[in-house]
Amino acid sequence: MYYITLDLEWNQAYAQKALAVQRRLCARLRGEVIQIGAVKLDKHLRVCGSYSVIVRPKHFKKIHKHVSELTGISQEMMDAGVPLPTAAENFKRFCGEDFAFLTWGPDDIPMLKDNLHIHDMPSEWLDRTYDLQVIFNKQTDGGTKQRSLEYAMEYFEIPQNLPAHDALNDAYFTALVAQKLDVKEGIRAYDVSQGQYLESSMIGDADAGDDGYVTVSEMLEDAAVCRPLCPICKKPLISKGKPLHSKGQRYTYYYECKKDGEMFLTLKLHRNFNDTWRAKRQITHATEEQIAEYKQKLDAGTIRRRARSRRSPRRRKNPAQNAE
Ligand SMILES: [Zn+2]
Repeated sequence: MYYITLDLEWNQAYAQKALAVQRRLCARLRGEVIQIGAVKLDKHLRVCGSYSVIVRPKHFKKIHKHVSELTGISQEMMDAGVPLPTAAENFKRFCGEDFAFLTWGPDDIPMLKDNLHIHDMPSEWLDRTYDLQVIFNKQTDGGTKQRSLEYAMEYFEIPQNLPAHDALNDAYFTALVAQKLDVKEGIRAYDVSQGQYLESSMIGDADAGDDGYVTVSEMLEDAAVCRPLCPICKKPLISKGKPLHSKGQRYTYYYECKKDGEMFLTLKLHRNFNDTWRAKRQITHATEEQIAEYKQKLDAGTIRRRARSRRSPRRRKNPAQNAE
């Protein structure tokens, strides 16, 4: 098996433009890929190839000042880029037959999937993917913080002798970090702990340049939460029950795809630096045990609410207050 370290750069639109495009497409589009950088490693983690392409976006055609400053990609370079369908076809060919992706952080694969989706292109070939950041944490200090690639490079004393925020350079740096880790063991442990995720991404992440959600209900009314697509076949999922709200601002939604089975969509909410909300959004296959647990917690919640309203009869006099 080959390992492909992947890094993307994407362009963003200013809020008004982004909103108009998303309305037109009826899809959330956080950014449009403008560079794909990848390095291929053989099973001994020896570098055996690289791929880099500048992509011309279809919707966010004007380069964002901040993106240009960060990546060094100019409007002219972007305009001369390859359309995504061609770039993706070539990239897929570069990946070959038997491969797994290694990315630094959880964002790149969902971003590429969203981009392929708006071009009506298949994306299942991106499914075998591992977040090297998680493997790094596990094999170093066991922490759960999101560490930068620069941090990992310093940790292993890898000199940073190429500019960062170039997709190919970052993919290469990711490959160098991978070489310092026990990737095989990392993947084995990863499959056990996280392999069940069909989809895992951040929504409303202001740090990543996303618009945060002003209120929790705004997030819960987002199509990504209440009208999600099946991660496998991209058809709309069907709701199977009420959302479960649990401690620590967690929400669990029970969904079904007629073709791919029952699934849970979970949200773990966090505050952004600017006081808006973001959430880790994950979709997993639902096991019988998990379904039983969800139903039991939902029932327990209903009983607790009933008990509470019995204890405070005054609340019931005002029906508006009880409308949950
Ligand atoms: Zn499906």
